[in-house]
Amino acid sequence: MIDLGQIKLLEDCVKFTRRLIQTKSMPREEAELAGLIAQEMRYLEFDQVWIDEIGNVSGRIFGRERMLGALVLNSHLDHVDPGDLRLWSAPPYAAMIEGDDILGRGACDIKGPLAVQIYSMAGLLRMGDRPRRDVVFTGVIEEEIGGRGAIYWTENLDYPVELIVLGEPSSNQLSLGHRGILQTWITFPGRSVHASVPQNGTNPNYSMATFLERLDQMKGELKEHPILGPTTVAPTIIKVDTASLNVTPAWTKVLLDFRTGTESSNSLQAFIKRVAGDLEYSLSDAWSSEEEAPLPHSDDIIYGYYTAPDKAVVGTVRKLIERGMGSQTSLSSYNFATDGRHFIPCGADIVGYSAGEEKYAHTVDERISISMMADSLRGHIQLLRDF
Ligand SMILES: [Zn+2]
Repeated sequence: MIDLGQIKLLEDCVKFTRRLIQTKSMPREEAELAGLIAQEMRYLEFDQVWIDEIGNVSGRIFGRERMLGALVLNSHLDHVDPGDLRLWSAPPYAAMIEGDDILGRGACDIKGPLAVQIYSMAGLLRMGDRPRRDVVFTGVIEEEIGGRGAIYWTENLDYPVELIVLGEPSSNQLSLGHRGILQTWITFPGRSVHASVPQNGTNPNYSMATFLERLDQMKGELKEHPILGPTTVAPTIIKVDTASLNVTPAWTKVLLDFRTGTESSNSLQAFIKRVAGDLEYSLSDAWSSEEEAPLPHSDDIIYGYYTAPDKAVVGTVRKLIERGMGSQTSLSSYNFATDGRHFIPCGADIVGYSAGEEKYAHTVDERISISMMADSLRGHIQLLRDF
């Protein structure tokens, strides 16, 4: 078993995690954090450290077999807003330690796992060892608001990559993917009148109510993926055309958020048609900048990313991290979406492996377990050394 105490790795990793949490880095405000990470990687004597044109930070340590494609450890630099500060038991940027946990915004998503990635690289160097292949840490901007950093990184990649490990919270399990997202507005037309004579108009709120009730009854018809889980649908925002209190709307629309590993744009549009039945409606693409852009037609399954469990790489990675941690782990998937979906064009295999726990991501009193970080450091070190 790798002895972290001998190389003072866990202690330094926890200290670094606390400094990361103490450096607020909301989307589009990641520059200070990128600078801190670059400085740390230089201090830890990484072979190369650089920040690209849009603010992604990277650090590389050379492998023993440099001709092999690199192993990339990826995290994002930003985090979500802490929300109402009064709900927190400790200030979200104080990075207090409470028992076995480090508390704070970004602790599990993703600053604790990010620190584990960097310190596992440093750990090998401290042991006087080298990874088998080049290992590159990449910290990318704006994951929480669409993934501009990851998209740019992928488009500008100029070295071969074999495997990308995501630091998104996976409870030290091996996460093989997540469902894709389709978001569409569904608009119900009506005829607007003064609210004192509703009988003279057609109120689209009733159509929407009927639709949502049917949706709730029929959502079980959507298929389930064996690893990525069931297809879900959630109506989120509701809008009407009018801001007046005494006018019935000319239209009402509701945003439908689908998550799926089995459906395509076409099959979901067919599902909506079955649910709507006799109701009049139109669909528009929630991701288009145009007001009423139609949903694209495609029979392609909407994945996030997906690495099949019977792929050889899954067995190899699993064996190595289990050997490093000294315990069994299992295969899982994420409920949320990650930058993994933007890395697909690289052609590399993608897995998630992180000490963070999904149940704490984006929550009040977000936290990460220090003992799980220790296990994860050992798992990562073994993976880096032998993959
Ligand atoms: Zn995250």
